[in-house]
Amino acid sequence: MELEQKFKQTLEKIKLNKKEKILVALSGGKDSTVTAYLLKKFGYNIEGFHINLSMGDYSKKCLDAVEKLCSDLKIKLHVYNIKDEMGGSMCYIRTAIQTSHGKGLKNCAICGVIKKWIMNREARKLKVEKIATGHNLDDETQTFLMNILKGSPQLSANSGAITKNKGDKKFITRIKPLFYIDENDIRGYAKKKKLPVVYEKCPCALDSYRIQIRQFTNSLTKKEKENIMKNFDRLSERIQKLKSEEGLNYCEKCGEPSRNKICRMCAMIKK
Ligand code: AMP
Ligand code: ZN
Repeated sequence: MELEQKFKQTLEKIKLNKKEKILVALSGGKDSTVTAYLLKKFGYNIEGFHINLSMGDYSKKCLDAVEKLCSDLKIKLHVYNIKDEMGGSMCYIRTAIQTSHGKGLKNCAICGVIKKWIMNREARKLKVEKIATGHNLDDETQTFLMNILKGSPQLSANSGAITKNKGDKKFITRIKPLFYIDENDIRGYAKKKKLPVVYEKCPCALDSYRIQIRQFTNSLTKKEKENIMKNFDRLSERIQKLKSEEGLNYCEKCGEPSRNKICRMCAMIKK
């Protein structure tokens, strides 16, 4: 089967080891569900990690789906409740940030920064070797194009099927096993295997710029998207060489790895 073959090839390319412990970031959506399902099917050592964003009915459905998946796959699930840990739902935190920073920061950008910050910290506490997310070919093509259109292709340099700033003791390497796989194929696979998936979109996903870029990537064929990401791999290799040994700093406020003195999370939370 083509999707399973591509998935395996990506794992070979990034030299994933069956002994290392991998934390799969599970949202309840099709992509991360298929990621966990296939990693388990191919014998990798995985546990699940879900951030309960406390966004009403949508979050309840996501939690139910993730619990069902982990019970079906017989894997351990770690749930991080944002309300308990951070004092409010994602909607509450996001609105507070937008109120203090003006409307410039988009919903998905804020949520993305917070989720990555949480994932890295919790993965470190759980002493796992890697974090796997469900980002697919379409997500990655959109992100790459958005970075180019913003004039910052270097923002994509550390990304890829495996993150490239390895070797930092506080930064947990992230992998994206679906990096080269088309979104429609993933949806078809999840349906065929009847996996417990929430198909509705996040009610807060209103990032208009990404929606516009998605309209464009939806008009491309699978081959065209694959070619864009081949160019991505070449460009990212070249930028990596230029950056050579440039290391990560640690945020002066929270101590997490960061490119700048203050990480993006702390810069958002304290103006
Ligand atoms: P998104 O940023 O919503 O497109 O999600 C990208 C990836 O991040 C997903 O495929 C998951 O691996 C992970 N992710 C998103 N939301 C959550 C969540 N609430 N809990 C755990 N992982 C998540
Ligand atoms: Zn910080």
